[in-house]
Amino acid sequence: MKFDQNTLKLMSTYRRLPVAFSHGEGVWLYDTNGNRFLDALSGIGVCNIGHCHPNVTKAIQQQSGKLLHTSNLYQIPLQANLAQELTSISGMSSCFFGNSGAEANEAAIKIARLHGHQNNIDQPAIIVMEGAFHGRTLATLSATANRKVQAGFEPLVSGFVRAPFNDLEAIKKIADNNPNIVAILVEPIQGEGGIQVPNDDYLPGLREICDQHNWLLMLDEIQSGNGRTGKFFAYQHYNIKPDIVTTAKGLGNGMPIGVCMAAGSAANTFQPGNHGSTFGGNPLACAAALAVINTLFDDNLIDSANRLGQLIYKTIEGQIGSAHYVKAIRHKGLMIGIELSEPCGPLVELALTKGLLINVTSESVIRLLPPLIIKEEEATKLANTLVKLIKAYMGDDRTKPR
Ligand code: PLP
Repeated sequence: MKFDQNTLKLMSTYRRLPVAFSHGEGVWLYDTNGNRFLDALSGIGVCNIGHCHPNVTKAIQQQSGKLLHTSNLYQIPLQANLAQELTSISGMSSCFFGNSGAEANEAAIKIARLHGHQNNIDQPAIIVMEGAFHGRTLATLSATANRKVQAGFEPLVSGFVRAPFNDLEAIKKIADNNPNIVAILVEPIQGEGGIQVPNDDYLPGLREICDQHNWLLMLDEIQSGNGRTGKFFAYQHYNIKPDIVTTAKGLGNGMPIGVCMAAGSAANTFQPGNHGSTFGGNPLACAAALAVINTLFDDNLIDSANRLGQLIYKTIEGQIGSAHYVKAIRHKGLMIGIELSEPCGPLVELALTKGLLINVTSESVIRLLPPLIIKEEEATKLANTLVKLIKAYMGDDRTKPR
């Protein structure tokens, strides 16, 4: 098969790398020529428990032989079981299932608007952050900060007010001046924005402001959820309870599923007819997600994310942390960002030639989202290979002081 962009019968929404994978196992992907790659990206934070985890494979095989889909016109026991699991993990009270992260956020945005109208706010607005990424549907790209994601799709959806990330004073100022705000939508740790980890008082501070103003605190955990940061949800590091949490990516380990969870009054905002999804929460996707959750807990993979994240961070920090071209190394569990002093997109292809899959986001941040099942020796190999690549790319044989 030829992978020439000009001959492929695909819309060119992605600039694809010159590799195609035939199969995967654990942290490893194998290309059609039999080469092996250490996957430090997990399909952009999706295959959290590794490629083709036997528990997920078995759940999908068994369920696909019984029932794939019925629609949400009927009771779906597996969906109810999954909602039970997710609400008990998150402290939320109800779930709406869709098929992607953007759809989960769409549901959150719609709940916020209904919440506003119920409180007699005719033009409800949601605070969103600089550096945010929430998806590519029209509402979620309007909530996203990246101009490249929005350009050409104007008119954008209105009703979003932008604030700097990790800045409580800015939120307080908006609160003083804008009576139309009904909610804050924020990633607890920004992913596409360059693995930005806020100060410890940020989420508790947002919670307090939301409580003061009857706003919903809506957390986008599409990337940071499902054990990746060393807690099931990243907000659980900060001892707060949001009103709405969205997640997707790692929830199905490759089966498309997204969920919007809500607590308090937000849990009962939607009424029949307000929202829906033909495929959302079908038996197959729910069976896969239940297998993922059980595996995360049974195999202590959330603790592993902490431990292995620390190992990768320390190995990289120890070798190039003081190099003049390393601006920062940020991480929470296995969500790791290495910010260089200059754009480093070409590193992705260089890493590919060394059998390592990485990503660069925000132009100069190397993003690592390896599977949580990664073993110590694989984590060390990942870190050492990456350090070598960075040094070579930056023309650094001997690390200079910053
Ligand atoms: N929100 C965050 C934080 C994300 O990282 C992403 C995807 O990268 C999305 C939303 C959109 O998810 P999806 O691509 O499944 O629609």
